[in-house]
Amino acid sequence: LVSRKWKVKPTLIDLGDGVSIEEGQLAIMAGPCSIESEKQVALTIEHLKAMGIKIMRGGVYKPRSSPYSFRGMGIDGLKMWYEQARAAGIKIITEVMQVSQIEEMYPYTDIYQVGARNTQNFNLLDELGRVDKAVMIKRGISGTIDELLYSAEYVFSGGNEKLILCERGIRTYETASRNTLDLNAIPILKEKTHLPVVADPSHGIGVRRFVEPMALAAVMAGADGIIYETHQKPEEAFSDGQQTLNFQESLQLVRKLKATFELK
Ligand code: PEP
Ligand code: MN
Repeated sequence: LVSRKWKVKPTLIDLGDGVSIEEGQLAIMAGPCSIESEKQVALTIEHLKAMGIKIMRGGVYKPRSSPYSFRGMGIDGLKMWYEQARAAGIKIITEVMQVSQIEEMYPYTDIYQVGARNTQNFNLLDELGRVDKAVMIKRGISGTIDELLYSAEYVFSGGNEKLILCERGIRTYETASRNTLDLNAIPILKEKTHLPVVADPSHGIGVRRFVEPMALAAVMAGADGIIYETHQKPEEAFSDGQQTLNFQESLQLVRKLKATFELK
């Protein structure tokens, strides 16, 4: 069902209020790895608004390698974030880690993000197939392109066609970067599926100074959107600071993204 053979027309994700993710446009989603405080949310929203960005990312349920790391503010953090985002006309994309969270998150979420550790959580995908809100599925840490498409098939076949795919880097033998952003996946996915394809250069390479070139490369490779991490003080971020842009770097990236998209 997610194949271009089944449906030729590209799928458009309409988030309302004139915000969409679709082929032929460049959707930009930015924000911190983790939602940390009211102040941080306010500063981020101010930054996004100044750049005309309409979708904010941030985790309140964080999948951390170590259980002793910061695991997120949870539903109260999401409610606090939502209040500020709604007032500012900003949409929210945030990770859902388990079935029981779907319902409580629903009023405060515009796009449910399925993280790389949950790409093949088939029960979660089944449940998201029954929800009438957009879902973005990230490629599994060691997942193939076809496995990502099959994960999308779970949600789509369940009845939810508001789906976005995300290349966020895969684990390879390379140790010079956190992950290996698989740029190949972008044109391949674009050919195989009618769903929008976005790239996450932050997790894709995992090194702040390399996020910009990889984001621009992803645009040239045909990505319909870019999702990246930004924070007012990346050195103090509760998670993923090493790959998070400060607001100045973020502003420069957005300028270059727009110029690069024009070139295409
Ligand atoms: C994130 O977006 O912060 C995240 C945890 O991503 P991933 O699932 O790709 O590791
Ligand atoms: Mn992160």
